[in-house]
Amino acid sequence: MENKISNCKKCGAPTENQFELVTLKTMVDRGFRKNKYYQAMGDIIHTAICDDCIDEFIAKSSNSSKQILKLSLLSLIVFIGCIVLFLVVPITAFRVFCAIIAGITVLAFLQEFNNIKKQAKEINNKNEKENRNTLAVKLLSKLLPDRHNDAELAYVDAYLIKKGDLNILAKEYGFSYKKLVQIKNFLKEGKDNQQLDDDANHQLK
Ligand SMILES: [Zn+2]
Repeated sequence: MENKISNCKKCGAPTENQFELVTLKTMVDRGFRKNKYYQAMGDIIHTAICDDCIDEFIAKSSNSSKQILKLSLLSLIVFIGCIVLFLVVPITAFRVFCAIIAGITVLAFLQEFNNIKKQAKEINNKNEKENRNTLAVKLLSKLLPDRHNDAELAYVDAYLIKKGDLNILAKEYGFSYKKLVQIKNFLKEGKDNQQLDDDANHQLK
């Protein structure tokens, strides 16, 4: 199977990781009483992103240590403040108050700490290939324009429209399910002969 080489959208390096993205357009008609939303399919974009750029983006997205450091510092300052006040001010009621605040700080810290860990774990745990594709499309979306005239633009992997669950896509993108079905049919019509190619090329190495 011949794989074409394209240039990475981000760094320009040659890469085989090609993506076919469908632009989803949402236009707002600001009415007198109520805004009306129109959704339509925009251009089909052929673009590419190299492994290095995807790796870098994944590392950034799944890195929880920075968030945890920030949280720890903040919690520590409040906690130490409470302890100091507890030791310096010899009023029982005030001391109880300080102890309660210190306790709440510790609990809040633990809860937030778990949340950050859980989120990072979710990113790391997802099927690696699936995760890579999702994040690659996310990264490409950041590199592409998010507005055109009055329309807000979003980009979805054409492969997901053809093979994925349109209900989930509709929710994720806040896009009309009906329109997604139309797009799927549109993509299928012209592309039946290319289907084998698509399947083979879609998965990243
Ligand atoms: Zn690159």
